[in-house]
Parts: sequence; C-alpha cells; structure tokens
Amino acid sequence: MSDVPEAEELVKIDHRPPVFKGWMDTPIEIRQGIACYAGKPKNLEYLGLPNPREWSPMDEDWKLPENWKEIILDGLRDRLERFRSLKIFMDVCVRCGACADKCHFFIGGADPRNMPVLRAELLRSIYRKEYTMVGKIMGKFAGARDLTIDVLKEWWYYFFQCTECRRCSLFCPYGIDTAEITIIGRELLNLLGLNTDWISAPVANCYRTGNHLGIQPHAYKDMIDFFVDDIEDITGVRMEPSFNRKGAEILFITPSGDVFADPGTYTCMGYLILFHYLQSLGLDITWSTYASEGGNFGYFTSHEMAKRLNAKMYAEAKRLGAKWILGGECGHMWRVINQYMDTFNGPADFLEEPVSPITGTKFENAKSTKMVHIVEFTADLIRNNKLNLDPSRNDNLIVTYHDSCNPARGMGILEEPRYVIKNVCNNFFEMPENTIREQTFCCGGGAGLNAGEDMELRMRGGLPRANAVRYVHEKYGVNMLSCICAIDRAVFPDLMEYWIPEVDVTGVHEMVGNALILEGEKKRTMDLRSQPLPGMEVMDEDDEAGEGNGDAE
Ligand code: SF4
Ligand code: SF4
Repeated sequence: MSDVPEAEELVKIDHRPPVFKGWMDTPIEIRQGIACYAGKPKNLEYLGLPNPREWSPMDEDWKLPENWKEIILDGLRDRLERFRSLKIFMDVCVRCGACADKCHFFIGGADPRNMPVLRAELLRSIYRKEYTMVGKIMGKFAGARDLTIDVLKEWWYYFFQCTECRRCSLFCPYGIDTAEITIIGRELLNLLGLNTDWISAPVANCYRTGNHLGIQPHAYKDMIDFFVDDIEDITGVRMEPSFNRKGAEILFITPSGDVFADPGTYTCMGYLILFHYLQSLGLDITWSTYASEGGNFGYFTSHEMAKRLNAKMYAEAKRLGAKWILGGECGHMWRVINQYMDTFNGPADFLEEPVSPITGTKFENAKSTKMVHIVEFTADLIRNNKLNLDPSRNDNLIVTYHDSCNPARGMGILEEPRYVIKNVCNNFFEMPENTIREQTFCCGGGAGLNAGEDMELRMRGGLPRANAVRYVHEKYGVNMLSCICAIDRAVFPDLMEYWIPEVDVTGVHEMVGNALILEGEKKRTMDLRSQPLPGMEVMDEDDEAGEGNGDAE
C-alpha cells in the first residue's frame, strides 16, 4: 500500500482525452502499480505451458518465439471456429458506447482503453485486419490494424486490467460479453507464455496439491483442527469434522482462502458450526483434503486449464462415493461450476440430484451439476425453521451486502444471501440500487488481479464499490461489508482500509456461526473472531439460563 498515492490524490482523475491522437496511435506505457509481475518459468514448466523463461513486462524484450505472430493468429482462427459467441462478439458491436462508462476500472481510473468497448477493440481490430475484407482493404479507416509487438503488449496490459466481472455486458443492447473477449485474449497470450505470477503460481500449486496455496493434506487438516479448538474456546462445544470419509452422503468443497486467510477463516468456522448443529438432524458430510480448493484460477488462464483444475471435484466425489456436493462461499468457483463444469467434466451420472437431508428440498437448479451453493442450503434451512438463531449476537454489526459478481450476475443468487443475513442479524442496509444485485460493482481484484504489486489498479478499480459502501457508512453507520466470495474477502480488507477504514469484511456464514445456538453451549461472550460481544458480558443469570438450551426445531 505504501506505493499507492494517497486517496485524495487518486480521486483526481484527468478525464481529458489525448488531443488529436487516436487510441491506435497512442502507444502504451506499462506502469508499476497497474501491472502484475510476470509468470515464473518453474510454474509454466510444471503445467506444461509454452515458452517458460524469466521475463518482465517492464523489459523491452519479452523473449517471444520467432513465430509468435503466427502462433497468435492460428490461435485466434482456431477460437473463432470453436466459439461461435466470439465470432458474433467480433462482428456485432455497433460502438454505441452504452458499455463505455460501466466498467469500474474506467470509472476509477479514466483510462480510455478500460472502456469495455475499447478493450474489445484491442482484439477486434486484429480480427478485422486478418479476417474481414473491409478491414484488409480499408485498414485503419475500418478500425483494423496489424498485429505488432506493441499491440501484443497492449493486450497483455489491458486483458489483465479486466476482472471478467461482466457488468458491461448487462448494458450492451447486443449482449456482447467483454469478459468472454478478455478470456480469449488471455488464452491467446498464454500461447506465448504471457501470464502473470499471481495467476500461474496458484494454478501450478492447485495442480500439484489440490489448492491454490499449495497446502498439503495434513496442513489442511491442521488448520481446521485449529478452528475446532477456537470454536470450543468460544462456545464450549467441540466440533468433530470428518475428512476424506468414504460413504458420506455429501462432499463439502470450499475455496482454500476460507481455510487459510482471515477473514475467510471465520466463515470457515461458521461452516463447521453449522455442520455440527445439523449432525443430529441427519447431515452426513465430509471435507476433503484433496479436493481442497473450490476456486479455479485455471479459468483466468484458459478453458483447458479451468477444466483440468475443476476435474478433481467430481473425481473426489466419485472416489468417496458421495451422493452430491455442497460448495462454500465463493465467486468464480461458481461461475465455473454453474456454467462449465457439466460440459467440462460431466455429466456426473454417478451422483444424485441434490436433496437436503434436513428439509427434503430438491435443489432443482443443481439437477445437472449436482452441486449446491451453501447460501441456498442455509436459506432453505431457515425457511423451513430448522435453525435456532439468536441474531442479537450480531448486534454489534451494522451490515451491508456486496453481491459478488459471479453468483449474482452469473447465477442469479440475489435473494438467498439477503434472506440469511436478515435472519442472523438485526441491522442490515442496502447500498444504492444501481450498485447492487445484477448491477453490482466488482471488488476490483477478481480474475487473478488480487496481487500486491498492482495495488493502485485495485484501489482505482474498487473505487465505485467503496464509494457505495461509504454512502451507507455515512448514512446508516454501516461497519461491516458482507459477501459470499472468498476473493472478495481477500480483496476488500485492503480496499476498505484504503477508502473507508471504519468498515470491516465478513462472510455470511461467519454471522450464521455467531447466531446459531448450539445444544449444550456455554454463554457466548465472544464472537468467532474472539472479540467481546457487546452487551453479552452483562447478562444476568436468568438470561444465561435461557441460553444454551437451543432446540433444533
Ligand atoms: S454496448 Fe455493446 S454494442 Fe455498444 S459499444 Fe458496448 S459492446 Fe459495442
Ligand atoms: S467485464 Fe468487468 S472489468 Fe471487464 S470490461 Fe466489463 S466491466 Fe470492465
């Protein structure tokens, strides 16, 4: 953070366009604070990706193969044939500009090439030159240009300044999805070994150990054992999670960020408490130390890499003989599961259509993937009056909710988290309408941009979201930003510290864990962060007697 300009400086944005100069004639300058470090050769080698070597985006020479241009154009031709959507997106844009001011990176930084329409033009201009008659004949007058090293550098710089959030696509009258264009752009760059370290290292780790952080099975279990100890200190009740248990009805998979990084760890404690609570009601669930990652940074590299990393979910469910899979709070994990997993690695005919063992609810929406989002699962439990909750344990929190881009725009999970939050805490306020639900603003660090070295980009890109949080903080005193995404939980603490330090970050199941009354628990005086619960310490003995006798029904 020390290299990022002060917030007062960062909001001074010069919106004037370059005078008498088109974007094609304005070469880029790759700036520190905006760009990420290059992918390291050892990780590319491990994954069998092309052209592993030491390089830096700041270098003049990117050490590309001699036939780099041929590789890119062949790759583009191949993808135009395989992805009909790409061909349509290349052809139908009328440059109306409806998307132009919808990208958080453009709003927060004013770089014209961060307008979604122009980000797409970076690729489209080459498409026109190579694959359209008008582009071949008219050149620049038809928005076409030659593929040069400068163009390639421009691609790298700007395709790694898009979080693939799809907010722009919501406003496009033709449904053009710039995120899909970014995805293809990154795939093409990967053909030349042009990835970032923040993406290729987690991908290699995940391929080796099953999770982005490279944590081995025993360490994964150790972490959860720590949480079990902490929960016992707080509640007086000992959780007994099972790992890699064959024959369990449900396999639970969550992002490793929930297991290894605050504040996601408190969300993980919330899952443990919930599962313990449900055990006596018939929940038969196991964690896996092999399918130890729900997230999928492969998706930020190529479709093929996303498929490779996703494969472990079904493979582990098959190995354990589970009936269906429950997934933790995550964003892009669900984009991959909801939109791709069935065709990537399915159909998973060996699994059953998910049915809640507690309520009997059939999750029809998960009929093909066989995988249910935990917030749907918990909302269903509450709806069926299966949880004994004390929302006053979250009374120290004045909460707002950030719709994580992928579950909200990609899956339509809009009501369930709100329903859960309103049942586990008493103080909830929405951010302004045009910044939530389908129109939600990205956290600014998704799609592999959550690095330390591109902090200025993240603070700029996160500005629209932070601005909406500031609004509810000033109007209602909001002090907690909740979300159902592990990347959000990793990105937001820095963003809040920079723009609104009074606001902290939580997952929804952390609040569930606080509110849930466990059979035989001791008086709760601390929340899951081991912070004193205001008001709870002065309860008299009569109040105490009323607690701890929670009934499941
Ligand atoms: S809104 Fe759609 S058609 Fe209009 S400029 Fe943007 S991408 Fe092109
Ligand atoms: S997908 Fe999101 S980050 Fe990418 S151009 Fe569109 S609004 Fe911007």
